[in-house]
Amino acid sequence: MQCNNAASLSSSQQTPVFNGSYEQLHRYSIEQPEAFWEEQSRLIHWETPPQQILDYSNPPFRRWFVGGRTNLCYNAVDRHLADRAEQLALVVASTETDTTREFTYRQLHREVNDFAAVLRRLGVGHGDRVVVYMPNMAEAVFAMLACARIGAVHSVVFGGFAAHNLAVRIDDAQPKLLITADAGMRGGKVIPYKPLVDSALAAAQTPPPHVLVVSRGLDVDIALQPGRDVDYATLRAEVGQVDVPVQWLESNEPSYLLYTSGTTGKPKGVQRDVGGYAVAMALSMLTVFDVKPGQVMFSTSDVGWAVGHSYNVYGPLIGGATSLLYEGLPTRPDAGVWWQLCEKYAVRTLFSSPTAIRVLKKHDPEFIRKYDLSALQYLFLAGEPLDEPTALWINELLGKPVIDNYWQTETGWPALTLLPGVDMKPTRFGSPGFANLGYNTRIIDENTGEEVGPGEKGVLVMVPPLPPGCLSTVWRNDERFIASYFSHFKELLYSSLDWAIRDEDGYTFILGRTDDVINVAGHRLGTREIEESVSSNAAVVEAAVIGVPDELKGQVPVVFATLRDEHAGNRAGAAADLRRTVEQSLGAVARPARVYIVDSLPKTRSGKLLRRSLQALAQGNDPGDLSTLDNPAALDEVRGALDRGA
Ligand code: ATP
Ligand code: MG
Repeated sequence: MQCNNAASLSSSQQTPVFNGSYEQLHRYSIEQPEAFWEEQSRLIHWETPPQQILDYSNPPFRRWFVGGRTNLCYNAVDRHLADRAEQLALVVASTETDTTREFTYRQLHREVNDFAAVLRRLGVGHGDRVVVYMPNMAEAVFAMLACARIGAVHSVVFGGFAAHNLAVRIDDAQPKLLITADAGMRGGKVIPYKPLVDSALAAAQTPPPHVLVVSRGLDVDIALQPGRDVDYATLRAEVGQVDVPVQWLESNEPSYLLYTSGTTGKPKGVQRDVGGYAVAMALSMLTVFDVKPGQVMFSTSDVGWAVGHSYNVYGPLIGGATSLLYEGLPTRPDAGVWWQLCEKYAVRTLFSSPTAIRVLKKHDPEFIRKYDLSALQYLFLAGEPLDEPTALWINELLGKPVIDNYWQTETGWPALTLLPGVDMKPTRFGSPGFANLGYNTRIIDENTGEEVGPGEKGVLVMVPPLPPGCLSTVWRNDERFIASYFSHFKELLYSSLDWAIRDEDGYTFILGRTDDVINVAGHRLGTREIEESVSSNAAVVEAAVIGVPDELKGQVPVVFATLRDEHAGNRAGAAADLRRTVEQSLGAVARPARVYIVDSLPKTRSGKLLRRSLQALAQGNDPGDLSTLDNPAALDEVRGALDRGA
């Protein structure tokens, strides 16, 4: 079994040929990881080739491509100048500022060099951390790539986070510089960033000596603190056009830090490497997303999330593709805005989240139908369980494969997926498919650690060493890395902390997080199963299920649901109907004890249900760390609903 990636390293025209079926290729990647990854390593440029493919002498830590020297920015930008300098590299469409900015690889190279020169002028160098706190604007991408170019470690903090979240991340990273914008925008409203940055810096223990402000001219009065704050345009003009040499890094040096969403507790600072990540990006663009050099990928994520890092910035650019970045809501000016962009730029692969599709589902499908989507081949959805009604709805509208994609900030690239670029298997609703190449996944019994059979629930784990691209460790906290992920079982295994089940054909289904299981009179029910059932009711848009203590049964399910507009008038009727739906599909044991109809559910800024906050409120407890909560009003509404009773 060979995948013929051989040949030229320098030319991004060279795309590999993957011979054989998914099963063969996957087996090869697991049974002969060094041979497999040695071949994949040729997808990127190495200034010095690796001396050793894998060093696993200190489990669970592993080092890929040891001794190899490379650079993410070189692979994402410089390497393409020979073949595709005039091709679009980056398109940034903003329905907030009503602008579309396009950059060819040549222009991107210029922007990144200018940015890197400014960073150097501010004293930033190899190994220094840089916190990037910006909206989805082109300069956020330039800043990330400029850091990568000079070997600085970026830590992008989602621009919607409050001062407190930012301060905590500053103290963890101890940056030499913070880069921000004058303002962000949401739903047409200007949100000044600078005052927020000022209070974060005041609250931080280790504030950086400098703040670099990129002004978008949003007409906000920003006060620059002399000696500390610097205006980007001013310093750029002063420094002038300089070509900044690439800092070659050993494959295992840190490239960036990124925090998990904080859905289950305090976010973990994921540390990514250089060489392994670059190889995983190059491979996944071809095998998972089926995007070749010159083709267009549109990921609707914010650059502040894992998807944004991997499939708005590094993946598409390392792959010589065109990356589309979007700033704005999916429904403004109307619910057709993403599909219009797909038509305009002949997007081949669209990557979004189930949450976003559920938002679109509230609107007229004509907003999708009216655009020419003939170039579009796939819609990938990741980040949360993809419920069947939502998947069916969008699948019928598009008539293209809707591919459920399972991964974590920690993994950096899909762990469970279909591989249309290799061997496209039929989609199966509710399942993200199979283990990705290089991922040795198992589903095991949480008590015995034994592998469970088809149809039996267990914990999804990965047999280490983790493949390239996955986290190296938790930033400056090796103990937390081991304690969080590798200390759950007798055997040394990476726990995903998610429940899963595999069917007879090997399709894996995610059943929810390991702390989201309800025990009703001895029956273990995944909250996800009940949520699926509730969502199958046509009146429902979205549902969250939690378990609350019950004297008789131990725990009982409680449902929170949002309704489609046309059903909003009859909340009581809908609640009764939902109870029946669940009872009919899952049996009396799953019958919700209470159903609360609300206008919105509490979500993290990355769009995930914050079940633990519902759980706490329903039990009269403190909702805990709400720093990643997106919509505090949703919690107030839940409080009100709980006070009034179901
Ligand atoms: P934290 O780890 O801080 O609690 P988080 O787990 O929400 O937050 P992320 O890394 O953003 O942080 O999310 C990864 C999690 O999202 C997965 O572990 C899983 O629970 C869920 N997830 C991602 N993709 C899917 C999917 N396709 N189907 C079901 N669940 C998914
Ligand atoms: Mg997690």
